Amino acid sequence: MDNKKPNTLLDLAILQLLRNETATIQALEEIPRDLFVPLFCASFKGVHKNIVKAMVKVWPFTCLHIGTFTVRKPHRKLLTAMLEGLQFLPVQNSGSRIPKLRILDLREDSGCKIVCPKICTKSPGCLFSCAHSEHSILKIQSWKSIASSEPEIQPSSLPMELIVNISIVSSITLRQHEYLTLLLNKVEESSGSLHLCCRDLEIDELGDRRNILDYLDLKCLVSLSVFQGSLVDVNNLLAQVGQLRRFCLSRITCRSLNGKAFRNFVSHLRCMDHLNELNFHSFVLTDHLETALRVLPTSLDFLHLTFCELSYNDFKFLAECPQANHLKLLNITHNPMDWEDYEPFYNILHRISGTLQHLAVNQCVLTDSMVAGVIPALSRCSQLRVLNFFSNPVSMPMLMRLLEHLTPLMELKYVIYPIPVHCYGRWPIQDSLDQQKLANVQARLKQMLREAGRSDMIWFTFPG
Ligand SMILES: [Zn+2]
Ligand SMILES: [Zn+2]
Repeated sequence: MDNKKPNTLLDLAILQLLRNETATIQALEEIPRDLFVPLFCASFKGVHKNIVKAMVKVWPFTCLHIGTFTVRKPHRKLLTAMLEGLQFLPVQNSGSRIPKLRILDLREDSGCKIVCPKICTKSPGCLFSCAHSEHSILKIQSWKSIASSEPEIQPSSLPMELIVNISIVSSITLRQHEYLTLLLNKVEESSGSLHLCCRDLEIDELGDRRNILDYLDLKCLVSLSVFQGSLVDVNNLLAQVGQLRRFCLSRITCRSLNGKAFRNFVSHLRCMDHLNELNFHSFVLTDHLETALRVLPTSLDFLHLTFCELSYNDFKFLAECPQANHLKLLNITHNPMDWEDYEPFYNILHRISGTLQHLAVNQCVLTDSMVAGVIPALSRCSQLRVLNFFSNPVSMPMLMRLLEHLTPLMELKYVIYPIPVHCYGRWPIQDSLDQQKLANVQARLKQMLREAGRSDMIWFTFPG
């Protein structure tokens, strides 16, 4: 009896094709359309650069996405090869197969299939085609159909889209720089028929990046991260942006939170109706968190406010604002809560106890009395998976008490705890750390987890 699975023959065929690279490239005109996706996947995984490049040239579907592949170092040259293989339609092709590719999606791990299913009724037949830019296939096609006096679309001007994520930061490698240059060259080469559709942009030194930004339509962005810059420059960028789902600002300077630049900034925030993740790092907002947050939608899942110098009043607002109603992640690292009243922090945790999965409160000067005050709220966080509160002045008895209250939280798997103060000659001076005392703490907590039947829960720490 034949026990072979139905796909074994397919696997063998693909293997054979990969072994004979030159013959396979010559045969691409002839091989069945159904073999394209499995052959592309196998070629990508096996880093068969020449086959991947040749396949892009004769791709028989409207779209091609990297899909769920994560691009590791050896795969990077594949992205370059795919770009090189991209031809502007229609191409002079002596073969029998007419290339159909109009949307090439080079985003890593975008979570979509290599080719969109046929059921997609959205023009041009791709679930991820651009819906925002004036240069998108969708918009150009609709203009052409509206303008009845326009002649038929000339084959030489068939629009195409290249969907990418771009990082323009000082630390990019030479290879990333070359990739970026190739992207821009492709746009130049297309004479206006290729829309470079950037969905996720990371950028620093805004003032020096103008020439690259000129190639992008910022309306296409879903995610924007700006590292280092003035709020005035950020505002200039936001004036061109459409609907972001993720917005990150890091090391942003603002002369005065009562000035015009901050008011303009807030008016841009007010337009972010679909925002899901907000990440402010090293952006001083003392006593102005309410002004920034209250204009945002209540759909936030992820909120990072690290090194923002938040005040007692900011925490009180955070405890009441509808924008923080159902957070999955709250990161308020390095905002010292050096006040006696634990209520604001308690109220924050109490309100999001049904949804919170990840809490980070490192370096917040959390004392024993603050931890004791919030334990009742923390122990209700039934969805909590990660608790990170290293570098806080907490005692060993308080750590043990906390552990007892957290072990019933079955979703909680990782706790990064502070080294208790008695381990230091002088907290938190690293040179005064007693390694033997720390080893005793680790052993004691491990034993408690074992006794509570929670060996699956990992408690670890590090000086910091
Ligand atoms: Zn698609
Ligand atoms: Zn676009």
